[in-house]
Amino acid sequence: MKWQTSKIQISRSCFQSNLNFINSLLGPETTMSSVVKGNAYGHGIEPFVQLAVESGLRHFSVFSADEAYRVHQISRDHDASIMIMGMIPDEALEWVIDNGIEFFVFESNRLEKSIEAAQKVGKKAKIHLELETGMNRTGLNEAQLLDAIGRITSNENLLTIKGVCTHFAGAESIANYLRIERQKTQFLKLSQIVKNSSMDVPFFHSTCSAGAIRYPEMKDRLSRVGIIQYGFWPSYETFIEYSSELADKSDPLTRIISWKSSIMDIKQVKRGQYIGYGSLYLAGKDMTIATVPIGYGNGYSRSLSNMGRVLIRGTRTAVLGKVNMNLICVDVTDIAGAERGDEVVLIGKQGRMEITVADFGDASKQINYELLTRLPHNLPREIVD
Ligand SMILES: *Cc1c(COP(=O)(O)O)cnc(C)c1O
Repeated sequence: MKWQTSKIQISRSCFQSNLNFINSLLGPETTMSSVVKGNAYGHGIEPFVQLAVESGLRHFSVFSADEAYRVHQISRDHDASIMIMGMIPDEALEWVIDNGIEFFVFESNRLEKSIEAAQKVGKKAKIHLELETGMNRTGLNEAQLLDAIGRITSNENLLTIKGVCTHFAGAESIANYLRIERQKTQFLKLSQIVKNSSMDVPFFHSTCSAGAIRYPEMKDRLSRVGIIQYGFWPSYETFIEYSSELADKSDPLTRIISWKSSIMDIKQVKRGQYIGYGSLYLAGKDMTIATVPIGYGNGYSRSLSNMGRVLIRGTRTAVLGKVNMNLICVDVTDIAGAERGDEVVLIGKQGRMEITVADFGDASKQINYELLTRLPHNLPREIVD
């Protein structure tokens, strides 16, 4: 891949500063599993995992076997643990077990298939029992758990139990308080059944970013940390609540991603002329416009038509008219000296100005998580200081 019209940069120093914050949050007893599903929340699995490994992280969580494969390519020489929380096609199980990849078991089928595959490969499958505690998505209920314990204890030569876990149904929102409290109680109850069995379990884990922040009593020895390592709060209210008790209200997290393009062309438009498709933008004065080679086909949402903002020469300026498939027009009338080749920041900082993912997300009605993971996979990503 080369000659792309925009690129993503990932900041090493900002990542390190987020890790410092996360370490202070988790404390020395809790291992962080770096959640890199969704192409590392759009940051790119390969560069991000490389950066994480260099920063000392040795535990990664992904949704599916294909993501585990990509993480493994990068982390294999560093003795890192990889944990699959979701989908594994049956035909991938042998590779998963052979390479020591850990995975969630939330239904009896997968347990059976794991036992068979472990036998074939001649290695133990490393499993985490996912428990149903109230999210009602995936997980073993009490009866299924008892059944699983029976099958695990009679196949101890083929299975290693690495963890027992659950996931909270919206820990980032105070409105879900009661539901999460019930889940906590249920998790502790079901965990006790496991503790009373003969199984020896190294990790009990239930917290995501919001859980680690809002339910520190649940962080245990492993926490699955996603969004905050990239410098985003799980929700605005999580930050408000977190900082409400603190004298210092400054944000301890820093976004590590920037997305940049450049000016392709400049032209003059006379007062009274429409700019771009249709009649969405009418020049109310003589204007200078710049075209930038990114559009909805490159991940720049159409809902930012007439709404988006970009940075050029340290100035925040507006997207004029419709976002096209591969182009936007922006106003450079008041940006002295703007010329072909100038850097255009779509997300991130330039000088003292910043376009945040939230600015972007609000305008396009997407939450951080969605916007980030929809950044195209084929954009080049580079690590910068
Ligand atoms: C995505 C995910 C996480 C991480 O969530 P964040 O809010 O990004 O920290 C943790 N656990 C599970 C099961 C997940 O799917």
